[in-house]
Amino acid sequence: MTVPSQQFASDNYAGVCPEAWAAMAEANHGHAVAYGDDEWTGRASDAFRSLFETDCEVFFVFNGTAANSLALSALCQSYHSVICSAAAHVETDECGAPEFFSNGSKLLAAPSPDGKLTAGAIRTLAVARQDIHYPKPRVASVTQSTETGRIYRPEELLAISETCRAHGLSLHMDGARFANACAGLGCSPADLSWRAGVDVLCFGGTKNGMAVGEAILFFNRPQAEDFDYRCKQAGQLASKMRFLSAPWVGLLETGAWLRNAAHANACARLFADRISGLPGLEFAFPVEANAVFLNLSDTAMAALRQKGWRFYTFIGGCARFMFAWDADPGQVDALAGDLSAILEAEAG
Ligand SMILES: *Cc1c(COP(=O)(O)O)cnc(C)c1O
Repeated sequence: MTVPSQQFASDNYAGVCPEAWAAMAEANHGHAVAYGDDEWTGRASDAFRSLFETDCEVFFVFNGTAANSLALSALCQSYHSVICSAAAHVETDECGAPEFFSNGSKLLAAPSPDGKLTAGAIRTLAVARQDIHYPKPRVASVTQSTETGRIYRPEELLAISETCRAHGLSLHMDGARFANACAGLGCSPADLSWRAGVDVLCFGGTKNGMAVGEAILFFNRPQAEDFDYRCKQAGQLASKMRFLSAPWVGLLETGAWLRNAAHANACARLFADRISGLPGLEFAFPVEANAVFLNLSDTAMAALRQKGWRFYTFIGGCARFMFAWDADPGQVDALAGDLSAILEAEAG
């Protein structure tokens, strides 16, 4: 048995991409002003403004849980609520941090078989209760691409944001894999965010090839009031900020952000194409970004693990495979080969 040299359990198993690493190394010369008043941080913020074609407010934090939680808490009072999909990372994977940082804003999770939130589901929750005894809906949160590897198209986002406006809700986007959505649709970042009515975007750097770091973009600038204080209080203000911001300069100015995401998506596509049509296999969701979800028998999953492959089954029991910016097509092929052999043997 050969041990896999890469795993596809998560897209954060990967390391740092060369462009982000080079920018970190370049930022490591001499001294720079602390707490974000340095040239790298200014340059990274401007790179976001130019990429998004708008004068947004930009903040840098260490991880996605902080980015989402702090962004949501900026949009909510403690007596408000946030509408999201039941599969949303903010609901299932942030240990209550959005509620904690907002001092109690409740998440209202909409049932969602495919992980997507719809305008209809938002409307239903927004009007379900309008009495004083229930936390008042104030925000809707969507994940792009979703936890199930789906992508919201601009027109879906427009329908969602229109519903948000009609019900007095702000629209937050968890963009841990925002780059994968841009690459998947061939859409501009602006078209998938503020032009579609998104107020705040948490743009993921970690899964896009950085060591650590997410950016928070406020397109609706007044909502960013005092956000710097919120970050500091939450322990998210980096004193050597240039090491959080420089890798963004590397990713954005070279176009690596989009190349990395396109490569990850292409590897998911490659895997899906290689295994499509095998007996005893069902795709749980359409493959649109860098994720492949498979319904497999328990014995097939056990056999795949026996061959040394790691994967998670936390979404509806199906096997999840995630492809990172550096996914090796040879290893993708090895995984597909092992899975084919297992399923063909099971089918007899
Ligand atoms: C990875 C991820 C995050 C960020 O998670 P952290 O571990 O807190 O950095 C946020 N949302 C989604 C959908 C993710 O997949």
